[in-house]
Formats: sequence, C-alpha cells, structure tokens
Amino acid sequence: MVKIAVIGAGSLAWSATLVRDLCLTPSLGGSTITFMDIDEERLNLIYAFAKRYASETNANLFFEKTLDRRTAIKDSDVVINTAMAGGHSYYEEMRKVSEKHGYYRGINSVEWNMVSDYHTIWGYYQFKLALGVARDIEDLSPEAWLLQLANPVFELTTLISRETKVKVIGLCHGHLGYIEIASTIGLDVRDIDFEAIGFNHVIWLTRFRYRGEDAYPIIDDWIKNNAEEYWKIWCEEQVNPFNIQMSPAAVDMYKVYGLFPVGDTVRGGTWKYHWNLETKRRWYGSLAGPDSETGWEVYLNMLKYNFDTIASAVNNPAPLTTILPPQLSLESVIPIIDSIINNKEGVYQVNVLNKGVISGLPDDVTVEIPAKVDGKGVHRARVERLPKRIVNYVLRPRMMRMEWALEAFLEGGRDILFEWIIVDTRTKSTEQVNQAIDALLSIPANQEMKKHFR
Ligand code: NAD
Repeated sequence: MVKIAVIGAGSLAWSATLVRDLCLTPSLGGSTITFMDIDEERLNLIYAFAKRYASETNANLFFEKTLDRRTAIKDSDVVINTAMAGGHSYYEEMRKVSEKHGYYRGINSVEWNMVSDYHTIWGYYQFKLALGVARDIEDLSPEAWLLQLANPVFELTTLISRETKVKVIGLCHGHLGYIEIASTIGLDVRDIDFEAIGFNHVIWLTRFRYRGEDAYPIIDDWIKNNAEEYWKIWCEEQVNPFNIQMSPAAVDMYKVYGLFPVGDTVRGGTWKYHWNLETKRRWYGSLAGPDSETGWEVYLNMLKYNFDTIASAVNNPAPLTTILPPQLSLESVIPIIDSIINNKEGVYQVNVLNKGVISGLPDDVTVEIPAKVDGKGVHRARVERLPKRIVNYVLRPRMMRMEWALEAFLEGGRDILFEWIIVDTRTKSTEQVNQAIDALLSIPANQEMKKHFR
C-alpha cells in the first residue's frame, strides 16, 4: 500500500489543493495520506477537511494524522514538505527589526531574491527543519521521494541533495507564468511550446513558440504597440499584487537581460526595482507588487481568509465541493507522485542538481528545468542555452547568495552574517551592520540561532 506523508500539513498555501488533487486522481486510490504538523488545531482541521472532501468525491483514500514527524515519515513512499518554521509572524518580526536598522524588507531581501517568504540568510530554523525531515527519511524510509515545496526551494533542494542520500525534487508553480504571457499577448495557450530555465524564482523564457514558430516577435510587437495602453488599465484596476507577469519590471528585465523573465523571477531583480515603496509602485503597479509592505499585507490577509473559509466550511454541513469545486489544479505535485508511483511518464518543471544540463553552472547546484519523470525518477534532458548576461550577472550572483546561506547554516559564526550585510547596498557603516546583527539575534525566538552565529 502506498503511503504519502505531508509534513507541515497545516500549510495555508498548500493543503486544501493537495487534498483536492489527490481525491481527483483515482490511480492513487488505496493510498494512505499521513498528515503531520506541530499545530494540533491546523492538523485536526486539514484531517477533517480531507476526510469529508474524499467522501464527497468518492475518493478511495485513507487519512491519518500525527504530531510526530518520525511516525509520519516511517515507511513512506513519498514525503511532501510544506513546513515553515516559525510561521509568517516570526519572519515579519525579523523584517521589522531589520527595517529599524535601515534594511528595507529585511536583510534577507537582496538582489534576485526579494520574495518575502523565501528565507535564506536568516532561515536557520527553516534549514534545520528541512534537513531534519531529509535525515528522518534517510533513517526511516530511505527509498522514499521527498517533494520539497517549502521555500527556499533553491537553497533547500541544494542542501538536501548535497548533505543526504535522499531523492529530492523541489517544486514551484512559478513557471505557469508563461500562460499569462501567452494570454496577455493574445495567443491560445494550448498551442504554446515553451521552456523556462535557471534557478527557482530566477527562470527565463529560453523557448517560446506558437504553432511551430518563434513567438518572441509577438512579445516585441506587444511591447511596442500595446504595453502602454495595457499598463494604464492594469494599474487602475489592480486588485491582485501578484499580477505582475507583464509589468513594466518584466519588460525592463527582458530589455536588460535578453530573455523574458517568468513567474516569480519578475519579483526579483536588482534594487533598481525595489529601493522603496515608490520605486516598487513605478515598476509593479499601484499595489507595489507582492513584496512590498502593501502587497505582502494583501497576501497574508488572503492566506488568513482562505484558512478561515476552510475552517468554517468544515464546521458547516454544506458540501465542501461548493467552496473548492472538484477540478484538478494546475499544480504538478500530485501528477508527479502519480508518475513516480504508477510509472507513468510525464514532463514536469523540477528543481534538481544541474549535473551538466545548464552550461556555465556547476554540477552540484540545483537548477530549475523541465524533465521527464517516471517510476525510475527524474531524467534530465538537453535544454536551450542561456545568454551569457543571464548566466554571469543574474545566476552566478544568485548562486553566490545561495552558497553563502548554506555556509551560514552549516558552519555558523558571526563573520558570515557580517559579510552578507557589509556588501549590501543599503549598508552605510560597519556600526550599522553590527547593530542589525545584535538586534536580530536578540529576538527571544532566536536564542538558539544566536549561539549558532556566535
Ligand atoms: P504556513 O505557516 O501557513 O504553513 C506552514 C505549516 O508548517 C504550519 O501549519 C506550521 O504549523 C507547520 N510547521 C511549522 N513548524 C513545523 C515543524 N517543525 N514540523 C512540522 N510542521 C511545522 O505557511 P504557508 O504560507 O502555507 O507556506 C508554507 C511554505 O510553502 C513556505 O515555505 C512558503 O514559502 C512555501 N510556498 C511555496 C510555494 C511553491 O510554489 N513552492 C508556493 C507558496 C508557498
């Protein structure tokens, strides 16, 4: 019997979608899904939701819940990790303290990673949690696949691949941004052939073909003739801060780096797009993009709203399928599990060690690429070439930050934190760096982290 463990099962961003997709995948029928979380209230909620959703959709699944990670992982075939150590409130506190010392959006926000819950240098607890999950798999279910959904996918997939023997795949839905590109410029998405590669949250449209022809000229034409008009309406009507795939920032990145940025890539870039709220508004519209004080608040409120909606639906006799209709999502998590468990070949966007696929990057760094997945695992294939400008001025600097964050976690010591901040464009003095480090490490929740960085 197949066992799928979900660690951090109370995840606001993931759980309901995972349950729905599982219930709508009959080839995984008969599986046992074991939910694990340290928050008992959330655990009970997702368990109740899953049981009812499965019964409403006649899914043949068995559900278990536990507060013990090792019990969940033992004898699993697949482990999904969506756990976020400390939760959003912990990181908002880290951000507030950083900002008091002159680091807008936190010391964690740097060039090519401005995403507000993609925690790298200050992610000590998150790295420890993810590596702990992988170590438990080595110990209790060494043949299991680990699907790493919790961020930072780039750092954590690289860390786990290097430090353990676990078969890990990092997953993200950012590449689906190609759908928005196609539909905005008036193309039928079903006739698109695309490829977007690089690092997680830093992927570039290396192939974009429409009905067999290169469709980049259609993007160029849209920029020349339609973009200004689109931006006028887009800016006035903005309600979703994530609606930035065709923003002025995306077009500017295309002009500077030579390929169109896809999905969360648009949220990154250099400080050119991020100095302050006003700058962010200029590039990302009236809500200033998701990674601003205004945009992130909208996102956190939306997560809370989704959670409250599920909580009240579970306590209400009306069918759950009325709030979450029984339709497969576009997420690849459950289809990948189906491919692995039932040996059904499929092509997916995955994060795995490079091993020579993208030239100009080391083998032991995780890249995001399309690859075939089946019962034997991930099969890397050839990809298009990235321009030198993207490899040298985008991916290599981003890779350097990843190495830095991994070293900070694995080796500790204050020097490494100091080095991270002293090269930050926002730093004005050595004193400022030291005061920011002291303040961050003095947060009560950071007692253990303080010892690590002594
Ligand atoms: P959340 O705080 O709502 O959920 C995280 C869950 O982890 C909570 O239920 C929490 O109790 C649990 N948790 C915390 N510590 C734990 C531990 N030690 N063991 C087990 N469970 C623990 O956060 P969220 O908004 O749902 O985001 C979860 C993660 O998913 C984040 O890392 C976020 O960045 C990531 N994310 C990834 C993608 C993607 O495409 N890969 C998309 C959205 C969010």
